[in-house]
Amino acid sequence: MSALITATAGPASEHSLRGRFPRINQNVSHGRVRELERLRARARSFARQHARPRALEIDRRAGEDPRFFDWELVRAGAEEGLLRFLIPKPAGGVGGLATEAAIVMEELCAACPGIALIFGAHALGISPLLLGGPSQWDGVLAELVASEASERPTLMACAITEPEAGTDVEDPDLLARGRITTHARPVPGGYRLTGAKRFISNGSVARWITILMPTDPRRPAETWTCFLLDARSEGFSIAKVEHKMGQRACPAAELSLQDVFVPAERVVGRPGDGAAATMIVLACSRPPVAAIATGIANGAYERVRDWIASERTADATVAVLHRSTSDRAVTRSLARPASSAWCSSATWRSRASTSVVGATFAFS
Ligand SMILES: Cc1cc2nc3c(=O)[nH]c(=O)nc-3n(C[C@H](O)[C@H](O)[C@H](O)COP(=O)(O)OP(=O)(O)OC[C@H]3O[C@@H](n4cnc5c(N)ncnc54)[C@H](O)[C@@H]3O)c2cc1C
Repeated sequence: MSALITATAGPASEHSLRGRFPRINQNVSHGRVRELERLRARARSFARQHARPRALEIDRRAGEDPRFFDWELVRAGAEEGLLRFLIPKPAGGVGGLATEAAIVMEELCAACPGIALIFGAHALGISPLLLGGPSQWDGVLAELVASEASERPTLMACAITEPEAGTDVEDPDLLARGRITTHARPVPGGYRLTGAKRFISNGSVARWITILMPTDPRRPAETWTCFLLDARSEGFSIAKVEHKMGQRACPAAELSLQDVFVPAERVVGRPGDGAAATMIVLACSRPPVAAIATGIANGAYERVRDWIASERTADATVAVLHRSTSDRAVTRSLARPASSAWCSSATWRSRASTSVVGATFAFS
């Protein structure tokens, strides 16, 4: 039984998670718990069937050639609904929020954090559009849902980081001091985008990219704006794909923009909303990001547990190693459900903030 269910559905004895952390999930109905349990089981089944068997081979091939990308895996994910996971139901999606995203990320990361990042970065790319409200759900989101059955389903990315500015462009208070080199110059009918973005997950495989930059470089915080960029636009290119040390299944690309025209209707939200949108999108992504660590710990624990249970106990050295690993595995097994429960607790809080802020943005 999953940790989340142990935390919510079992009796609140002093040994149960609910007993030890009484405030966790106290308002979650049993119906909701069962719904999340089903989601976790589906995500785990997808991870075991499609991600785990491919993980090492993808890692090896992407290690040799960082541009290698497994579209077959993306197609399998699309069939499972992983590409439209965050898209609201009225726009044809699953309507998942941070809680659901954290559960899916945890299960995928237990199999392969690189493969999980493909779907996580795609969700990050979609997120600013959700803040833009229903008027921005048609078009690209409809195209995304319609593309699921195709050879190359539509993937998205979110481009915030720049070669000279990482933390700085994630924080409105630091933006003014950051070394921002991108610029969206207002022109009749839209904007001309120039500059570079770095470390963009899915950057080399995304069809659409939500990209943030100032319309006035002298006032970056006030004019930071999100655009929906068509990766087939003239002037857009991939400068390089990084040789990563890990999570290789998901390419991290440097994007180059030279006077790329983006029509005014592809401003996401309103001009100048970008700093607030970045803060909200990143805040809502934190619980799923925390779930990445929990998922990796789960995956490591499961592998160690399976190894301990394996037949190779005859050799004395291995037996000693088993004993020490076993002790650590027990400690890990106690920490794991707590970590999972903390993630779910945090996602419930972020879910509340998502709906409040989302509504403010979408309908103001
Ligand atoms: C696997 C992976 C995937 C990524 N995917 C994306 C993506 O899809 N899209 C995207 O836009 N970006 C992406 N990034 C980039 C990521 O968002 C940046 O790496 C991150 O913002 C940090 O920026 P930086 O690397 O420039 O580090 P820096 O900003 O240089 O920070 C380096 C260190 O200095 C500290 N530091 C920085 N400024 C201060 C300060 N003022 N005071 C005190 N300490 C400070 C930081 O905490 C950090 O420890 C990805 C990165 C990784 C590793």
